[in-house]
Amino acid sequence: MERTRYLIVGAGVSGLAFADWLQDDDYLVAEADYEIGGYCRTVERDGFVWDYSGHFFHFRIPEIERYLVDRMSAQRVLRLERDSRIWYAERFIDFPFQRNIHQLPEAEFQECVRGLHERPDEQRGSFKDMLYARYGRGIAEKFLIPYNEKLYSINLARLDADAMGRFFPHASAEEILGKTDAPKSESYNATFTYPERGAIQYIDALAKGVRSDQIALNERVVGIDLDEKVATTTKRKIGYDALISSAPLVALLDLCGVGWDPNVFSHNKVQVFNLGFDSKGPPDVHWIYYPQRELSFYRVGFYDNIFGSDRMSLYVEVGLPSDAELSEDTRGAMKARVLADLQTCGVLTNQTLVASHDVLLDPAYVHITMKSNAEAAAKKKLLAAHDVHSIGRYGSWTYCSIEDNIVEARGLADMLRSRS
Ligand SMILES: Cc1cc2nc3c(=O)[nH]c(=O)nc-3n(C[C@H](O)[C@H](O)[C@H](O)COP(=O)(O)OP(=O)(O)OC[C@H]3O[C@@H](n4cnc5c(N)ncnc54)[C@H](O)[C@@H]3O)c2cc1C
Repeated sequence: MERTRYLIVGAGVSGLAFADWLQDDDYLVAEADYEIGGYCRTVERDGFVWDYSGHFFHFRIPEIERYLVDRMSAQRVLRLERDSRIWYAERFIDFPFQRNIHQLPEAEFQECVRGLHERPDEQRGSFKDMLYARYGRGIAEKFLIPYNEKLYSINLARLDADAMGRFFPHASAEEILGKTDAPKSESYNATFTYPERGAIQYIDALAKGVRSDQIALNERVVGIDLDEKVATTTKRKIGYDALISSAPLVALLDLCGVGWDPNVFSHNKVQVFNLGFDSKGPPDVHWIYYPQRELSFYRVGFYDNIFGSDRMSLYVEVGLPSDAELSEDTRGAMKARVLADLQTCGVLTNQTLVASHDVLLDPAYVHITMKSNAEAAAKKKLLAAHDVHSIGRYGSWTYCSIEDNIVEARGLADMLRSRS
């Protein structure tokens, strides 16, 4: 039987960042898919460049960004001031809604202001309670609740108040009411970066530090014997000293024969349609949020306005419950509905669709609750006691960016190296 010191499951950002940082050649990366990248992948078709879903980057640690960019040969990385908007009452409101209610029709603005003055006291409760307590009925019910329910495909009363962590654009009541001396909240993504050939460039940068002959593509891990420290793949058995997995935590628990509670670990899925047209659509805007329950998508992004190109190039995201059936027929019907909805909201006028691609992200957003956080920590600890380390957005059952994935993977590599 083959043996390796570090068996890495998954060649997404997390697995590659771990292998790259390890400084030990005794590793093997097993990747179920036919190429590296996980969710951070790019497709190029008929001159259009699309990610698996809109991936834009906001590095908080300059050294990590420099580390990646320095390895990106001739690729240009675009740096843009975010132009993100909300389609509401047949007009655009700047994002985030709660900081821009003065752009609403007067009566609705007054409703939001009244809601702010009459909001309930904040107590530790659900995400939905938090929205009412911080923003009042008007803001919560006009945008924050319908939009996030479309995204998460769940009643927000089931999510923890802090389910989105630093990714939620909070604002104080003073700031919302336009008090000039109110401190301005910082947005985590007021500017963002994007490589000219798509998100995969960051993956390729990481992969430069990983030996390609030690990445086994099309090789899925199908079982893990915790006691024997042996993984079974679709091709062989591999003994390991430590196993590092970026597969979804629940899938890893299944592989290890450890039970878990589906009421605690739930998630949505997101169907992404990448659509290329023959001519330009709305100018300037990078992405638009749609809270309307009657529209199929919750967000639409415009690659052409990021690249400065002259043919409309969209990603369209549709949030779905995890048990939604998605046959080829239903996906086709959903795409037709997306195109009709794009017309309804004025994105699509006289352009013709000339190229498309679609992908299902499953899981996409995990449902974070106090219980899921506690259970994920407990299960990770149990696995770690057997030298199985679960990392990554889905391995840690969390909401995070690729930068967070890199930080976590490097931290684990440092820890394991110092132990050996
Ligand atoms: C809609 C959406 C938008 C996002 N936008 C952004 C953004 O703008 N900016 C940002 O920084 N982040 C964004 N993210 C988050 C980002 O995609 C993730 O943080 C990152 O891709 C996670 O990488 P990972 O390696 O942890 O997991 P993954 O990308 O899921 O990689 C896991 C890998 O493991 C492989 N695998 C799974 N099971 C097995 C098995 N049994 N055997 C072998 N291989 C296996 C999979 O094939 C996959 O390649 C977004 C996420 C979503 C869903």
